Amino acid sequence: MGIRHLGPVLMAHGSEAQKHYYLPRILRGQDIWCQGYSEPSAGSDLASLKLKANRVDENYILNGSKIWTPGAQFATHMFCLVRTSIEPYKQQGITFLIIEMNTPGIEVQPIITLSGDHEVNQVFFNDVRVPVSNRIGPEDEGWQVAKVLMQFARSNNVNTGWVRELLEHLKRVAWIERSDDGGQLASDASFKKAMAQAEVHLYTVEAMELRVLSAEGKKGPGALSSMLKTLGSEVKQTITELAARAVGYYGLPFQPDVLNPFLQAPVIGPAHAITAMPTYLNERAATIYSGASEIQRDVLAKRVLGLC
Ligand SMILES: Cc1cc2nc3c(=O)[nH]c(=O)nc-3n(C[C@H](O)[C@H](O)[C@H](O)COP(=O)(O)OP(=O)(O)OC[C@H]3O[C@@H](n4cnc5c(N)ncnc54)[C@H](O)[C@@H]3O)c2cc1C
Repeated sequence: MGIRHLGPVLMAHGSEAQKHYYLPRILRGQDIWCQGYSEPSAGSDLASLKLKANRVDENYILNGSKIWTPGAQFATHMFCLVRTSIEPYKQQGITFLIIEMNTPGIEVQPIITLSGDHEVNQVFFNDVRVPVSNRIGPEDEGWQVAKVLMQFARSNNVNTGWVRELLEHLKRVAWIERSDDGGQLASDASFKKAMAQAEVHLYTVEAMELRVLSAEGKKGPGALSSMLKTLGSEVKQTITELAARAVGYYGLPFQPDVLNPFLQAPVIGPAHAITAMPTYLNERAATIYSGASEIQRDVLAKRVLGLC
């Protein structure tokens, strides 16, 4: 979150003092960052956010909540969008703030997801005082800052290196597992075809990632990041779905304890099956976070194809 999301934004919109203080800390991994954008009634429609920030002298006083915040239970800092005024155009009146998570009045409540993970949280703000000096960009004009961050978040969230690892793991599993006729799953015509299609899609996404990276060097990723995010998260889901299919019934036991090295819990089924289902379930979120695929397609329709 620090190096891939906030860093580029500080470079573009931070004051000299903010760059001087935060950028070296981000490079050293000194702070743990979480992203406070979504709210209970502002997800896809992010600009409807309501977390209220009243300015009192040199502080903002925050009241409201953020939701779906990964890592808030560990984070030392949050970068956050707040509502500083109500304007006719909802993208106006939003301000971008950095918040220290140990500030009095912040409460983090866990949300346990379908895969059994404690990854996301709801964060409540009750009269939380944030110094005005923690603001990035002008008051009420945080939407411009937020948009820059979203472009980088979308292009960074795919992580093709890891998707390639998932594919290579799937291929190894397919050589071990058996198909219905007792032969190796990797030799089964329909499974082999599905793996090959996934690999072709992944090559496309990897090539697209290089295009995005080269565009970033010049003027930022722009709408290309929406294309990368959409196709990248879809191919990741296809691969994790094939892995869950490959392990068959051994994907069904819910055994989170075996991943805890201190518990030494007995494993049901082969070791390669342990993570297949949790990974499949966790990756269902890939087409939701950082903007759902439907929203990315809207962005592409407007900005790339010029349809509306
Ligand atoms: C694992 C995970 C991690 C996350 N990480 C973060 C984070 O770090 N920081 C953060 O702030 N948020 C985070 N989020 C929240 C995420 O950004 C939102 O869940 C997402 O933007 C969707 O918002 P929503 O959940 O309110 O769904 P909604 O906006 O209610 O959407 C529900 C459904 O309706 C569809 N839909 C909505 N509007 C339209 C439209 N105009 N056209 C077509 N279809 C539409 C959506 O595509 C979706 O399928 C995370 C979520 C998850 C699951």
